[in-house]
Amino acid sequence: MPLPRRSRVVSFLFIAILAYIGVLVKRKFMSPPRVIVVGGGLAGLSAAHTVLQNGASVLLLDKMKSLGGNSVKASSGINGAGTPAQAAKSIVDSVDDFIKDTTASAGSLARPNLISALASNSASSLEWLGQLGIDLSQVTRLGGHTIPRTHRGNGGPPGWAITSALFKKLDTEEKATVVKSATVTKLLEADGKVVGVEYAVDGSVQRAEGPVILATGGYAADFSSSGFLSQYRPELLSVPTTNGGHATGDGLKLSVALSTPAALVDMDQIQVHPTGFVDPSDTSSQTKFLAAEALRGVGGILLNGTGERFVNEVERRDFVTARMQEVIAAGHGPVRLVLNKDAADELAAHIGFYVSKGLMQRVEGIKELASVTGLDESTLSKTFEAHLRYANKEEADPFGKVYFSNPKFDSNGQFLVATMTPVVHYTMGGLSVDELARVLHADGTPISGLYAGGEVIGGVHGQNRLGGSSLLEAVVFGRLAGHAAVEGK
Ligand SMILES: Cc1cc2nc3c(=O)[nH]c(=O)nc-3n(C[C@H](O)[C@H](O)[C@H](O)COP(=O)(O)OP(=O)(O)OC[C@H]3O[C@@H](n4cnc5c(N)ncnc54)[C@H](O)[C@@H]3O)c2cc1C
Repeated sequence: MPLPRRSRVVSFLFIAILAYIGVLVKRKFMSPPRVIVVGGGLAGLSAAHTVLQNGASVLLLDKMKSLGGNSVKASSGINGAGTPAQAAKSIVDSVDDFIKDTTASAGSLARPNLISALASNSASSLEWLGQLGIDLSQVTRLGGHTIPRTHRGNGGPPGWAITSALFKKLDTEEKATVVKSATVTKLLEADGKVVGVEYAVDGSVQRAEGPVILATGGYAADFSSSGFLSQYRPELLSVPTTNGGHATGDGLKLSVALSTPAALVDMDQIQVHPTGFVDPSDTSSQTKFLAAEALRGVGGILLNGTGERFVNEVERRDFVTARMQEVIAAGHGPVRLVLNKDAADELAAHIGFYVSKGLMQRVEGIKELASVTGLDESTLSKTFEAHLRYANKEEADPFGKVYFSNPKFDSNGQFLVATMTPVVHYTMGGLSVDELARVLHADGTPISGLYAGGEVIGGVHGQNRLGGSSLLEAVVFGRLAGHAAVEGK
């Protein structure tokens, strides 16, 4: 029998009120979580903005007084395959080509799922940066790339341009809280999940709850006797570094301290970059300025202590470093980097900085070059003439160089010269993650509530990282981590 009309109205109202309460409860208890990001370099900032774009709020903690980490120092650029900037220069590239180059460079430690995530998200990541107003219109070829795909803008170094745009924008976001000088010391756990962090700030210990994204960078400055360099590559303790003092592997230490620890991979894979500047006023300093790989990309050549070339300057970093170390060990150093004016003009902002710091010298003509370096003028002349013949394909370069930029060194022209030494630069090892940026246990299962992006993760580059792929790793995996943390994957 049908209900009387009054009862029907009451039932309807009752159901409507229940539904409304349901919505309120859902809003209160199911609203996107507040995500905690540890580290304010490019990976952390990319994660934080992605969290905000997905409607959640973010707490970003960084142990330093200012944000940026090593990301602000990056000087060559960021990789992207199939970008509008490449198309504008008639450069034909594809995700497959990028995957091939990265896989070749990674060698026997190549991990197809991570390489594919890196390469297939590259163009969209650069587009995402472009939407924030960042100029990435210039494209260079760095060592190990068969196609020019390293992007930078027309202004100063790309690391600063990209990273500062992101942290300035974060300052304007209502749902973002940034705490500097806040060192995360512990991951909090409940029921097998990571549920927050403990951090030290202003002399007190604080706690924050929420899913956690680790973006603490690498361990290329972890020089202590119990640190990762001592543990995995003690012979590198005496090699100078390009990294800031913050790069002590904190995210790894926090994650292995979990009751069921995170897995670490490839921890002995540490990139020694071939070209760190030897500052004439402080030759023994443990921290060196990096001579950007772009300097060789635009045509800089490397000379031994008698003024002869000894390597294909645009080979992969591990290869160039090995040749340099042989030259130096055999007593045939020092190694110098020389650019002509055309090459220097392509990187005018970089060169201006290096010259102002006294790291690079600008000289007029080959005579002055010979005089300031003590190198023999006729040997220099022969080196430059031969280099032009190889570029013009009149002869094959004995070192296998096939990609030449600005190859003509005019004896009466301007030269830029600096002394180089290999430097510990980047750590390929780190947290084991999957292609969604979830941190993994040793058995390959994800640790609930814990995500990571940037140099803190391991395995993306295998045995050797290609130049330009670390800024990319920071943006790609930072964004993946941001998505996964909000969605609770
Ligand atoms: C001189 C130089 C030049 C480079 N040039 C290039 C380039 O041209 N292209 C390229 O692709 N790559 C380049 N790289 C590599 C690249 O810059 C880095 O690998 C990348 O920026 C790492 O980004 P990240 O966000 O993972 O870490 P970082 O930028 O190092 O940021 C990590 C942040 O975490 C914070 N942190 C660490 N531990 C804690 C803790 N316990 N609690 C709270 N905060 C913590 C740090 O203070 C820091 O701010 C260069 C590196 C250097 C050093």
